[in-house]
Amino acid sequence: MGDHGGGHVPPDDLASIALDEERAARDGAQAAALAHLSECARCREALAALRRVVAAARAASPGDRLVRPPPRVWQAIVDAERARASAPALAPEEDAAGPDDRTPAGGGSGTPGA
Ligand SMILES: [Zn+2]
Repeated sequence: MGDHGGGHVPPDDLASIALDEERAARDGAQAAALAHLSECARCREALAALRRVVAAARAASPGDRLVRPPPRVWQAIVDAERARASAPALAPEEDAAGPDDRTPAGGGSGTPGA
């Protein structure tokens, strides 16, 4: 249990939580994401970064309360998070020690048919 698909919290869900964590906790839609956040430091860091963006965006417009950033700005943030999440940050080396059974032995660059 606790492992839903083996992935991290999608950027879209992190964004939703960062924007309104109380609601996310209330409506249960992000229950799995919140559970994952409680045990994943990497996702907590990503959420913290999004929270800072949300706080900065809200502070930038003191006349409005709880206002979302403009859609284009928000989309850029989500895209950046998505790119970072999919980037092979600390990807372990492929089993370099193991045998590579994807390529059959015997060269491979030779053209068949003599
Ligand atoms: Zn995670």
